[in-house]
Amino acid sequence: MLTYIKGIIQGDKFTPTLRLVRRLCIIALLASTASVGLSAATKPQKKHTVVVVSLDGFPAYALDDPRLPIPTLRKLAREGVIAASMRPINPTVTWPNHTAIVTGVNASEHQVLFNGLLTRSTDGSKPTIEPWRDKEELVHTPTIYDLAFNAGLTTAQVDWVAIYGAKSITWQFPELPDPNGKIEHELIDAEIVTADQLKTFEDSSQAWQDEIWTAAAVDILQKYKPNLLLFHLLTLDDINHTYGSMSPASFTAMAFLDAKVKQIVDVIDRSGRAKNTTLIIVSDHGFRTYTNKIRPNVLLKEKGLLTGPPEHLSGDAWVMTEGGVAGVYVTNPERRAELLPELRRIFSDIKGIEKIYGTDEFAEIGFPLPSGGNQTPDLVLAAKPDYMFGGESDGEFITHVPDAGTHGYINTDPKMQAIFIARGAGIPKGVRIDSISNLDVAPTIAALLGVRMDHVSGHAIRIRSRGMSASSAAAREYSMNRSCCGSCASVPSDIRQPHLFASFNRSTFRS
Ligand SMILES: [Zn+2]
Repeated sequence: MLTYIKGIIQGDKFTPTLRLVRRLCIIALLASTASVGLSAATKPQKKHTVVVVSLDGFPAYALDDPRLPIPTLRKLAREGVIAASMRPINPTVTWPNHTAIVTGVNASEHQVLFNGLLTRSTDGSKPTIEPWRDKEELVHTPTIYDLAFNAGLTTAQVDWVAIYGAKSITWQFPELPDPNGKIEHELIDAEIVTADQLKTFEDSSQAWQDEIWTAAAVDILQKYKPNLLLFHLLTLDDINHTYGSMSPASFTAMAFLDAKVKQIVDVIDRSGRAKNTTLIIVSDHGFRTYTNKIRPNVLLKEKGLLTGPPEHLSGDAWVMTEGGVAGVYVTNPERRAELLPELRRIFSDIKGIEKIYGTDEFAEIGFPLPSGGNQTPDLVLAAKPDYMFGGESDGEFITHVPDAGTHGYINTDPKMQAIFIARGAGIPKGVRIDSISNLDVAPTIAALLGVRMDHVSGHAIRIRSRGMSASSAAAREYSMNRSCCGSCASVPSDIRQPHLFASFNRSTFRS
């Protein structure tokens, strides 16, 4: 089904497309999903399992290429629901988006802006990004695993991010495994990995790490049958950064990931709980190829704002870069008022910079305001396509570089769109839907698990109820999109998402 629902429901006139709407509605009917949703607000589903597999850096546009060697993902899409794409949040970076997927809110609320915690120095040196900090320090809103755990369900994570030290995870095999951990010991006993290999886990290849993480996810699913498993694989992101998206290496990495997903599918299908298990495949962002690199800190040095020997450079303003986006931080608060106009002037009319966002425009891109925490920059620089930001403070300001891949570009960029595929309990078969937001994933998991999740910006993906006529379904859905909810009202119309599977009575579900 190549025609998307969005194209049908967003027009004011339904008549010309009524026949197609009726066909779509017939395809989208699934009574069991409605019952899952209705039970959501009242009772945790202790016999239900939701497995979320994140394929880091898998772009939505890749799925349009028939040459892609991904038989398992194609099969899952045929047997379930596939979205045309899934819109990430800003910045289109790994940890902010994995956090959006489990919280249902933008970085303006969860406050994860980097792959770690931005820590400001006191001596004028560059701020640092510290990944190994506790989740409680990083994530400022409830996650679906917190809520599921507190509702008496069991939770698990393998290589998920911004999750260190989370007390609401029942079983885990973390990104940095603990040789004394329970699941780690089980893998050692099964001769899948040795204790010595775990001690130097970070130094091994990304593909080998993905192999071990998959073994850990299989072990947890087989032995413990958690209600929620969050599982993250990294090989494709690594390859796409080095060789570029859709390169021969990228195709091979996607085939490798497909094989890892098949291991998860096989264990679910063998578990005897397949009819109670929902598998959700997502990615966190897409990818772009670039050939030009901008080093904003080099310009700050040329302008005299960063001074001193290269190894001890210091100043009152630094630029923290994340590929297609960069944050300008005035690190000396006493000079903020003086430096902000100067910094804006310095980065204006620079080849390769598409736009400079001031704090008055942060709501437009879902960034927190400086008053909302210490992670927020004072300005955001957005790169043009084919340009990316590098954090170095030496070398040339802008240079031509060999083809490579990156992400971080503003989330309206078609190349940044991610993937969403779901199959299993509560999911209809063979439905292709329009683009969704990754903010919809957490409330969808909450619906499947029967867990209450309030104050999120996304909406559970729902199927229209059986028995509703096509015309009234389209009209009702269109009406709901127009009126939207309080959370969406603050989102500009160009990044607002339609609620493709909106229920008729959302209050039943959300209250
Ligand atoms: Zn990523």
